[in-house]
Amino acid sequence: MTGHAYDGRVLDAAIDPEQQALVPDVSGNVINGLGEGRVRPPSTIYWQDPRTLAHGRLQNWMLEKTRRDVPQIMDMRTGLGGRGNEKRVPVAPQPVPGDAAEFAAEVKAFALGAEADAVGIARMRPEWIYAEHADSPGADLPNVIIVLVQMDHAELATAPEPPSVVEVMRQYNRGTRVARAVTDRIRERGYMAVPHGGPVGGPLVMVPAAIAAGLGELGKHGSIINRRFGSSFRLAAVLTDMPLAADEPDRFGADDFCRNCQVCSRACPPDAIADAKQTVRGVEKWYVDFDRCVPYFNQTYGCGICIAVCPWSRPEVGPKLLQKMLRRLGSDQA
Ligand code: SF4
Ligand code: SF4
Repeated sequence: MTGHAYDGRVLDAAIDPEQQALVPDVSGNVINGLGEGRVRPPSTIYWQDPRTLAHGRLQNWMLEKTRRDVPQIMDMRTGLGGRGNEKRVPVAPQPVPGDAAEFAAEVKAFALGAEADAVGIARMRPEWIYAEHADSPGADLPNVIIVLVQMDHAELATAPEPPSVVEVMRQYNRGTRVARAVTDRIRERGYMAVPHGGPVGGPLVMVPAAIAAGLGELGKHGSIINRRFGSSFRLAAVLTDMPLAADEPDRFGADDFCRNCQVCSRACPPDAIADAKQTVRGVEKWYVDFDRCVPYFNQTYGCGICIAVCPWSRPEVGPKLLQKMLRRLGSDQA
């Protein structure tokens, strides 16, 4: 036992020796660029083709364990609401002319009408595309639409037990359905669009794109904190060349709050969450130790304790925190 506890539960960080034997010699933190001062594209590390990853055998182990213990999440096509039509409509030959602000409003209204809970738009940056995916479909498109779908916090709060991962997969499916519907809508208007929905990664690192698109601030737990949903959500994306007005980042005080909060770092069984920012590929930011997190994450079907306990995620706490932080910032943007 580690002594880590939340919600009355003491959590055991013991790792199955069979999994331990698959840990590669190379550190995931090195692959992620921890301590590197130069900005560069990220390298693929997890949730990609396992044959291409140093940690691919660990990823396979996790999927096998989950398949055995939580079989209802493995039928991604038709289970848990499904992921939408897999075949994309062709791009119409003539792009409909239009204004970037009007197109952005149209796309957002469409996504919100198609199950999204929030939508943001950002201009693509090269440092958001994995180095190994530079030639993947969509990687050269100039705009990114990020779709946010809320998780049921009561289900998420069962982490690290299986009901949490069932909810995670249900929401990945919902986000994917939205991304595919938005993609088809844009293609019908004569523009290229490529959807992406988790959990398997595509060419885009979604977290920095979502922050640029106004969907929240990076938290100490390495996930985004959104002003309405805390960290109780999942993301999907659409890459497109449709002209779209980009959003501004939304700074409402979450980063400041993290400096004095230790709820997630104290709850994390393997002590993976650092209490100070670190330099990663040229950017100073909150960073979760990959080598400490992943074995526990694998052992517990994706863990999720840190995003569940974050006060911003808790429906009875998050809205009060937002009011407090906005008052502190002297802002009237509530
Ligand atoms: S997901 Fe990783 S960082 Fe978060 S609580 Fe679990 S082990 Fe810790
Ligand atoms: S639990 Fe506290 S420190 Fe961790 S991400 Fe949430 S607000 Fe920040």
